Amino acid sequence: MDFGLAGRVALVTAASRGLGFASAEALVGEGMSLVLCAREAQRLELAASELKKAAASGAQIETLACDVSDPNAASRLITLTRERFGRLDVLVNNAGGPPPGGFGRVGDADWDRSFQLTLMSVVRLVREALPLLRASGQGRIVSIIGTSVKQPIDDLVLSNSLRSAVVGLTKTLSREVAGAGITVNNVLPGIILTDRQRELRGADAARRGISFEQAIEEAGRGIPAGRVGTPADVGALVAFLASAGAGYITGTNIQVDGGLVLGML
Ligand code: NAD
Repeated sequence: MDFGLAGRVALVTAASRGLGFASAEALVGEGMSLVLCAREAQRLELAASELKKAAASGAQIETLACDVSDPNAASRLITLTRERFGRLDVLVNNAGGPPPGGFGRVGDADWDRSFQLTLMSVVRLVREALPLLRASGQGRIVSIIGTSVKQPIDDLVLSNSLRSAVVGLTKTLSREVAGAGITVNNVLPGIILTDRQRELRGADAARRGISFEQAIEEAGRGIPAGRVGTPADVGALVAFLASAGAGYITGTNIQVDGGLVLGML
């Protein structure tokens, strides 16, 4: 299938590793040029040089180290995109997750920080990106959130609440911009073996006195597909949603979870 993305431009946030990196890798493999951000400049540069190896010929990569919860980050990223490429076709919203905790453990400062990180980062990036996405004629907005919007995860009240706000934003926005040929969708990863997951599961395995491999196998057994996901599983969906062929899919929340979520809708 030709994804129709060659020569187009994507902005992928939080892309130095994990799901952002995998999304960038899938898009650059389709011939897109990229603007990437993450908080640490050195790690971001390493990611960019890795991605250049996977890039189709002609694809170019620009980077800007910034924190997407900073109110100025979105305008800096879109300014760079406009100046460097003069266009934007695909916006992939991604960021680190809010901290864990049940309702009783998180205070106002946690709510405020997580609101900026999870919801306002998307609001500002979309606002700044919309003029370029309208001009694209094939604009795509994809936000990486989580299955917790379908099935809340215990002890993650910030994520469950604020990612659900992204769902409300996505659905509303999708209706407003559909006439301009822009689609807006959310990707809902289940358990995906990124570096962060490796760290968390490694620490958990050590606490329980089992090996990392045993812990991963155990996690996979609880998933109908029989395995945890790979970042490339998520990247593949991001690339499809970005494609010309996905132009009639909008306002949706699509799981990449090997069948983990039990809900029917
Ligand atoms: P990760 O820790 O492996 O990678 C996170 C990336 O985001 C890094 O590049 C980091 O530099 C960057 N980053 C973090 N906060 C940032 C910020 N404020 N501004 C700019 N860059 C920032 O994480 P991951 O596993 O790839 O997860 C990505 C997102 O997907 C997170 O929100 C996570 O909660 C969510 N998610 C992950 C899984 C999973 O199983 N991996 C499942 C559901 C949801």
